[in-house]
Amino acid sequence: MVLKVLNVAGARPNFMKIAPIMREMQKRASFFKPILVHTGQHYDFGLNEVFFAQLGIRKPDHFLGVGSASHAVQTANIMTGFEKVLLEEKPDLVLVVGDVNSTLACALVSAKEHYPVAHVEAGLRSGDWRMPEEVNRVLTDRISKFLFTTSQDASENLKNEGIAEGIYFTGNTMIDSLKTFEKQAGKTGSEKKLGLEKGGYALVTMHRAENVDDGKTLAKVAEIVLTAASFSQVVFPVHPRTRERLEKSGLKQKLESKGVKLVEPLGYLEFLNLEAKAKFVLTDSGGVQEETTVLGVPCFTARRNTERPITVSEGTNTIVDLDSVLLKRELEKLYSGEGKKGKIPEKWDGKAAQRICDALEKGF
Ligand code: UDP
Repeated sequence: MVLKVLNVAGARPNFMKIAPIMREMQKRASFFKPILVHTGQHYDFGLNEVFFAQLGIRKPDHFLGVGSASHAVQTANIMTGFEKVLLEEKPDLVLVVGDVNSTLACALVSAKEHYPVAHVEAGLRSGDWRMPEEVNRVLTDRISKFLFTTSQDASENLKNEGIAEGIYFTGNTMIDSLKTFEKQAGKTGSEKKLGLEKGGYALVTMHRAENVDDGKTLAKVAEIVLTAASFSQVVFPVHPRTRERLEKSGLKQKLESKGVKLVEPLGYLEFLNLEAKAKFVLTDSGGVQEETTVLGVPCFTARRNTERPITVSEGTNTIVDLDSVLLKRELEKLYSGEGKKGKIPEKWDGKAAQRICDALEKGF
């Protein structure tokens, strides 16, 4: 049989997860017929096109072009656009990745039309329902037939929610991309282009709604970035959502006046290289917590919790929330040579897409 799969991607963190799956399915052409749907949730060059080029993802078969809007409008537009594609393509399976609005919207449309759904990166839970991503994760898992997890704790979360079937611990597809492109990333010289030296700078990213949407919280974000800057040169590729708010609040100037290098979002290869060579990373990103664990680079997560606890229990991640005093204490430890040493979690080995395809071949 040939299994026709609609693979869905929509936003920056989806592209590195879908790329190895597309590649593996294309390799196994006697079993899989992958169709790529890009919802266009992220549409500008810096968050979208550059990733297709660098990750070698082929041109999408369907582009929905939804763009940014409120959660309701964006989710509704994705659902309306995706329903047409689904009914036209009539696939055997719909595969969604991660926790963005496209993930839930396409899963929901598929479930209602009785198409089976596979969720890659299932079972991650922060327990924080204020996060739009948490809502997307829990609801997508509930209506998925195949649940591919990145860690045993995620599989346990699903079992604790009463899901008894379809859970496969297959590993981390984001790390598949890291392994594939690590060497190439090293050759970009992105640190030198920014006037930085290996080990001589900190890398910062911040874009979670709960950190950047509210003015008071954003001021705390700026404060913790300045704490990092008191230890090291800081480079901060700024997500468009964050840039707009930093500019409006005047905090952009404040950060720049203290020497923080604010730059546009970087391409995957350029960013990966900066991550690998950083002295430490301060972030609220999900994916960056995982990548730093594999790269062995200390990561401080500016959130109250993480849906990726394995990066803390086994990796190089430390949760600091927006607590500048705590970050300062942790950085003093790091700079006195007592920083955390992590290990690489099970199945974060570059072979997750293979395991996912193996499971699907067996499951159908
Ligand atoms: N990333 C990138 N350029 C940047 C910032 C991040 O290529 O300027 C990559 C990063 O290496 C990781 C992914 O984007 O692979 C993480 O995406 P993001 O932080 O947007 O989303 P999250 O993981 O928090 O959902």
